[in-house]
Amino acid sequence: MAERILIAGAGPAGAATALAMLRAGLPATDLAVLDAMAGMEAKTRGPDSRILALNAGSCRLLQVLGVWPALEAEAHPMRSIALSDTALEADIRPLSLGFEADEDEPLAYLVPLGLLQNVLRQALAEAGVTIRPEIIRSFREDGDGLLVETNRGRQSVSLLIGADGARSAVRRMAGIPVHGWAYGQVAITGIVEHSGEHRGEAVQHFLPGGPFALLPLDEGRSSMVWSERAEVAKRMLALPPEDLRAEIDRRAAGWRGTITGIGRISSHPLSLGLARRFVGPRVALVADAAHVVHPLAGQGLNLGFGDAATLAELVIEHLRLGLDPGDPALLETYQARRRPAAAAMAAATEGMNRLFSNAVGPLRVLRDAGLNLVNRSDRLKTMFRQAAAGRGAHEPRLMRGEPI
Ligand SMILES: Cc1cc2nc3c(=O)[nH]c(=O)nc-3n(C[C@H](O)[C@H](O)[C@H](O)COP(=O)(O)OP(=O)(O)OC[C@H]3O[C@@H](n4cnc5c(N)ncnc54)[C@H](O)[C@@H]3O)c2cc1C
Repeated sequence: MAERILIAGAGPAGAATALAMLRAGLPATDLAVLDAMAGMEAKTRGPDSRILALNAGSCRLLQVLGVWPALEAEAHPMRSIALSDTALEADIRPLSLGFEADEDEPLAYLVPLGLLQNVLRQALAEAGVTIRPEIIRSFREDGDGLLVETNRGRQSVSLLIGADGARSAVRRMAGIPVHGWAYGQVAITGIVEHSGEHRGEAVQHFLPGGPFALLPLDEGRSSMVWSERAEVAKRMLALPPEDLRAEIDRRAAGWRGTITGIGRISSHPLSLGLARRFVGPRVALVADAAHVVHPLAGQGLNLGFGDAATLAELVIEHLRLGLDPGDPALLETYQARRRPAAAAMAAATEGMNRLFSNAVGPLRVLRDAGLNLVNRSDRLKTMFRQAAAGRGAHEPRLMRGEPI
């Protein structure tokens, strides 16, 4: 038998899952990582200007994996969040809800996705794992293992981890259906420059077309995540740069002074997806392969890192006891620990997007009453703050900052 564990997809979630197992002592010879696009990113992928808000749990995981020092110089703290809920034309956008981090730890750090991916892949290479440019064609149970066929050959493994993103081929081949739908919204992302200070504060304006967020980078610059109805987004993306800047400035509503410049823009169609099962015989799905949520709460990869940390912990515990890492009981435990968290986040972001992305009068009154209630309740705010900072009840060890 060749490698015991095969990971399909070396995005941030697949790479972190692999690194977590290697750091816990899994020999590099027991692990294989494939990626359909390995080595071809620059030529075939369009620009991706995503900068992700990583909560404290994710940052602790990256610290234990030893990659935080390579990210730190480009990681910017988010110390508070302010939300508003108004029409685009409104002259004044009052604050509807705001909350701040505890003194000791920011709510999140903003980290460029491209850098994160490169740093994780570099760490894998240094640990002796080369990402193979291969695609899985099929797999089936075969005796004590799973026989996996790729475009380069066959191998038998104990566990196949599908970390191959939202359109996961592993999920499809395992016959796992997905609940979900397209939002009809597109997220326009990019770095904007502004005349006002942010002082580490993130803002999110809930506009009828979708939420418009500015997340703090270095002073005078923010990362924009502007969710907009698909047809409007298409028009916006076709505008000359000065007109696009003016549209962004309208949405930013003066909370950061004037928007003075925009960097490289990228666009991302938005959808909701939740795999009905996170596991199959000798198969486990992690991150976007298992769930895709609206970016309005900035939680997609934070959930994905939670999956990676949980699965790595369970696999390593099994291997240390001499047990099979593809054991059905292990896979059931993984699903039981992770699917409820993803389902809850999918429901929360779906609910918020529906409630806020419209201009229906009675709904506005209701939601503003709700936001005001939360704003005045210290207990509720503490709950929200803890969720944003990744301090849930059942965090895996890596997310608590402990090695496996
Ligand atoms: C606008 C926007 C803003 C966001 N903001 C945040 C945020 O602030 N915080 C946060 O936590 N999350 C955020 N997210 C979510 C986050 O970007 C994703 O959850 C994360 O990038 C998913 O990582 P992944 O490794 O699961 O998938 P991907 O990054 O999609 O990686 C999948 C990998 O699998 C490979 N692959 C695909 N098919 C195959 C195959 N058949 N065989 C082998 N390999 C294959 C691909 O080449 C790729 O390398 C945001 C998302 C969007 C759209």
